[in-house]
Amino acid sequence: MSFSPSISPITESDEELEALLADPGIELPPLLPSIAFATGDLSFIPADIRLDPSKTLEEQGGLTPDEQSTIRVRALEGLKQLRKKGKREAPMSDEDIKSIMSWACGTDLEGSYLHMMMEELAPGNTDLRSPKWNVQDFSDDRKFTVAIIGAGMSGILAAYRLKQAGVNFVLFEKNEGTGGTWLENTYPGCRVDVSNHVYSYSFMQKHDWPHYHSTQDVLLNYFNDCATEFGIRDNIVFNTSVSSVTWDEDSSTWSLDILTSGVEEIFSCQAVISAVGQLNQPSYPKIPGIESFEGISWHSARWNHDYDLEGKKVAVLGTGCSAVQFIPRVAEQAEQTTIFQRTPNWLMPRPQYQQSLPESLIWCFTHIPNYHNWFRLHLFWRSHEGLLSRLEIDESWEDPGDSSISAANHELGVLLRMYLESEFADRPDLLEKVTPKYTMGAKRFVIDDGLWAKTLHADNVELCTDPIVSISPSGITTDSEGLKDFDAIIYGTGFKAADFLTPMTITGRNGVNLHEQWNGDARAYLGIVAPNFPNFFFLYGPNTNIVINGSIIYFSECEVHYITQCLKHMLENQLASIDIKPDVHDKYNERIDAGNRRMAWGLSDVNSWYKNASGRTAQNWPFSLLEYWEQTREINSDDYNVI
Ligand code: NAP
Repeated sequence: MSFSPSISPITESDEELEALLADPGIELPPLLPSIAFATGDLSFIPADIRLDPSKTLEEQGGLTPDEQSTIRVRALEGLKQLRKKGKREAPMSDEDIKSIMSWACGTDLEGSYLHMMMEELAPGNTDLRSPKWNVQDFSDDRKFTVAIIGAGMSGILAAYRLKQAGVNFVLFEKNEGTGGTWLENTYPGCRVDVSNHVYSYSFMQKHDWPHYHSTQDVLLNYFNDCATEFGIRDNIVFNTSVSSVTWDEDSSTWSLDILTSGVEEIFSCQAVISAVGQLNQPSYPKIPGIESFEGISWHSARWNHDYDLEGKKVAVLGTGCSAVQFIPRVAEQAEQTTIFQRTPNWLMPRPQYQQSLPESLIWCFTHIPNYHNWFRLHLFWRSHEGLLSRLEIDESWEDPGDSSISAANHELGVLLRMYLESEFADRPDLLEKVTPKYTMGAKRFVIDDGLWAKTLHADNVELCTDPIVSISPSGITTDSEGLKDFDAIIYGTGFKAADFLTPMTITGRNGVNLHEQWNGDARAYLGIVAPNFPNFFFLYGPNTNIVINGSIIYFSECEVHYITQCLKHMLENQLASIDIKPDVHDKYNERIDAGNRRMAWGLSDVNSWYKNASGRTAQNWPFSLLEYWEQTREINSDDYNVI
């Protein structure tokens, strides 16, 4: 795996270049921006064509066929120029980059939007989000130490930022390797279901992803390689779990109870960053008799690779994102697969979901300098501008009977329904079962390239929607169909997402227990800090999940930026502790709740892991990506009680 692309000189003839550009696999919107950026010639940016933010869902960013032809013609000239003169030597001014980016984003970029997009573009993997300070800048004589818990995507990132700032830290990881969710989820068919180029650190963009949505092993390698490249491995203590974390007011330190190979120890530090993830505690359904099953069973996140499915009768519970990825692989092997579906998910068609990148696109990545940065920015822009508004309630909208919440929501629903109707045209029985009856966007979409319908059509696959009543030693009993016998049951039943930071016990100021304070309803300011837990920071905490727009890595980058600002504030001002003020925290959460009530997932009462037991949306961020970026730029010292 390589992070620095080696760009090959263009040696193709004019005819070969023309043929390349005619290939439908090339993503056109980032083409001219990358050529203008590489050549330094802004005349490649067409003043007569403009990308339309309302068309981000459409192929080629909604460019008309004529506009696409114009772009191909101009790109040919650009490639010829690059072939002849190579990449520009002179640096490009910020103004010029801004005007190229403004075209690429279909809007005149200004202020924080420009700043954020510039960080996301990160030309040449320039790390624009690195801390602009170092611990040595401050005359703080404490050996200020931070404990990070978890070496997945966000923990690796936090570690790197602390290293860049010269802050002393130790990272505790319960597994024997880095990678978090990508280390633990090894089920067949596992791959990232957002666009892979966006699902990468902004400052560590990879130009040679093999797929649009890479498989688990490729992602695990990426995060492992990042951990190595960042030079943080020596700070990681593997095979070590943290069972409890306790605040000591007198010394303003946290004590961590850690367990390594059966040996318990106490580790003390001034601050803690929890990077334990949200979707890693398997959730098993509460079905009577579940323990009595005498066959074999396992959860998707604890895949049993030793069991041979060949010739077996297999039951799968769940049809969420994980299950829809592994069921086709199970059905290929098992004699009979019975899928127990409680609620169908809306399918989001993505023909390229499992495809390798086409040769023409790979050629762009390897021959046009920084094309991969512009390609990633284009995807980011699409997800940033694209879909969120379609899930927002329009109070004046009159539901025509499809549970839609706005005209835009209805329009998308029509498209998604048409997709289902075409996939199941010959099976009205299946169509009825797989068509959701709830507002589109109330649950997570499941990305699909046709494999789901193909799987459900197979002779050895049954989709059972009859409610499960119980599990017995030999199988599963449903309400009206009775007992069905199985050799194996696979639980694709998701995670205890609402139980943030479990199973750790966190005890803060005055002996307050974090889980008791939350009482099943986790809340935090910016998803990062909670009152009574000074110097304790969460990554992927409450209300930092996104439903449809963007990647969780973006959120982690914002969160880590904010945390490093907090640490800087403490070091700069020699503060023993900072503790978010309850009123700031509460007011913030009121706004989040009001925001979520305006969204599809807040309105609908369909089952979803976005909501906790009390029915509150404890997972999702209801506003734009830009707003989260703006709110996490700086710490407002007035928000905190300090010592
Ligand atoms: P999930 O979305 O929570 O799905 C759990 C499934 O189990 C649902 O279909 C649920 O039905 C069903 N279920 C739960 N209890 C049941 C019961 N008692 N009887 C029958 N069915 C039951 O979990 P997930 O699929 O593991 O996905 C969780 C999240 O992880 C995703 O939304 C996504 O954010 C992330 N994920 C990402 C990727 C990726 O990027 N590669 C892959 C997988 C997951 P109901 O719908 O009725 O509750």
